[in-house]
Amino acid sequence: MRFTRAFIPTTKETPNDAVLPSHIYLTRGGFIAQVASGLYNFMPLGLRVLHNIENIVREEMANAGVHEVNLAFVTPASLWEESGRLEKFGKELLRFRDRKENLFVLGPTHEEMMVSLVRNRVSSYKQLPLNLYQMTSKFRDEARPRFGLMRGREFLMKDGYSFHATHEDMVREFHLMEATYKKILTRLGLEFRVVEADSGAIGGSGSKEIMVLANSGEDTLAVCSSCEYGANVEAAKRQRLKAPASTGIAKAEKVHTPDTTSIEALSHMLKVDSYYTIKAVAKLAIFNEGSQVVLFFVRGCDELQEVKAANAVGANSLEDVDAAQLEALGLSVGFIGPKDFGKLTVVYDVELQSASSMVCGANEKAYHLTGFDMATVSNAIFKDIATVREGDACPHCGASMHYTKGIECGHIFQLGDTYSKPLQAHFLDENGKAKPFIMGTYGLGISRLVAAIVEQHHDEKGCKWSSATAPYRINIMISNTKDEAQNSAGEALYAALLAKGESVILDDRNERFGFKIKDAELIGFPYTIIFGNALTEGNVEVLHRQSDTKHIVPVSTIESYLSEQL
Ligand code: ATP
Ligand code: MG
Repeated sequence: MRFTRAFIPTTKETPNDAVLPSHIYLTRGGFIAQVASGLYNFMPLGLRVLHNIENIVREEMANAGVHEVNLAFVTPASLWEESGRLEKFGKELLRFRDRKENLFVLGPTHEEMMVSLVRNRVSSYKQLPLNLYQMTSKFRDEARPRFGLMRGREFLMKDGYSFHATHEDMVREFHLMEATYKKILTRLGLEFRVVEADSGAIGGSGSKEIMVLANSGEDTLAVCSSCEYGANVEAAKRQRLKAPASTGIAKAEKVHTPDTTSIEALSHMLKVDSYYTIKAVAKLAIFNEGSQVVLFFVRGCDELQEVKAANAVGANSLEDVDAAQLEALGLSVGFIGPKDFGKLTVVYDVELQSASSMVCGANEKAYHLTGFDMATVSNAIFKDIATVREGDACPHCGASMHYTKGIECGHIFQLGDTYSKPLQAHFLDENGKAKPFIMGTYGLGISRLVAAIVEQHHDEKGCKWSSATAPYRINIMISNTKDEAQNSAGEALYAALLAKGESVILDDRNERFGFKIKDAELIGFPYTIIFGNALTEGNVEVLHRQSDTKHIVPVSTIESYLSEQL
């Protein structure tokens, strides 16, 4: 490709809402163009990067024996009613009616569609296992589309679905997909970590996320400093906390504690470590049908983890409640403590199991209890609902854990029969008995990966693509297009590389050198070969974008030099 014939609208303008380097450079470098909130056009350079990623994914999927399909983007709402997700997915699902008033949904993920494709077509255990994938547009009407390709409304996802006769076979495939995703990310030159995850709206149990490590990542990961263990904080586990050196308050009494509606004020007044206090958090739990106030209790030194807490009560999400709503339920806001609340749903964090000598609200304005023993609470339900903190002990090896930030690029699930059962997708086992398929599902954000690569590989000048991902691997730049020698030598190398099938672009624009080099740096070609003044001595300059260094190479050896580099 020649720059003079290409469509590469680079610009100095930074989009108003752009904060992330990937959003800024992909827009400024002429890779993508925004159409509306969360909607992007891919221009030629962006599409070439996307295709590079797709090709690597296709190769690795083929190596793993997975077949590609392409399912309709518009999906009948009736399928979503069958699975029960029409409600659960909420406003992210874009719904519309056709001319015959039939309700449809733009596919945000395709479990229902894939199950409906396979059910009644695969009917015997002899046809299993089966693993199918597609790489197609998805639409989610995200509440806050942002960060360019990172969180779009329309985006490209590779989504795969496997069907098995047994749980063991599904787990085998799950491990194969994890290994395959690791290969893909390694080929893309990404530093990543596979972590345990919450299963969210997709459902099922046993899920892992593939996290590209970057400070700009939206996800917080709790990772062990010693072993392999890592998890999204939404799902992270820990060992029981070590009690501090100080003790709690053994004496059971009701104490007057005005103005102590915070744990900090309470532990200060009673001179007790917040570990020995109990914090109440009231939330409005949102269910498929309606909502309900629920109470959670954690140690005062802990925070409620909302995703874990929502899962603990089977809610889709949690929202804040105002004091008036709680007072109306007879709760003494700021002084709520553990007790049998009757009909009200209450969950205690596992840390509180068998806790004693505690300080907690007395369920009476301006009073707390000391010497409280959790064993006195009847019908208490204990679940893991607290946030793992930095320094907490790894559940596997006990070493200290710390936080790091990640971009979720892949998510793989052990689904079981979560979809096959409601959608009545059955096969006949060896004994001729009908059973629902045991499924796994595997998502990879292809367009998000474009952004993630730039997040990990850029500098203050622009992108730094690797040879595997670059829109063009080699950029031949003619410094002064009016110079005959520079022109003919540049053209000759361009023709030679094209003949070899190399991914090459020729910057033959009649522009200043400074302007062209800025574009080369912004776009981030791995190698820029400059035909300039050095040519009078028989040399070219080679700019290595990854290391941002320049090398003088004799023009006579440039082809072999490039073959070695690539
Ligand atoms: P997130 O927590 O970031 O919203 P998710 O849990 O909703 O992601 P999945 O439903 O597991 O994501 O989708 C599979 C993959 O699709 C994700 O790992 C991510 O790479 C990609 N993806 C999801 N939502 C978006 C989006 N709005 N824009 C771009 N890629 C996305
Ligand atoms: Mg999401």
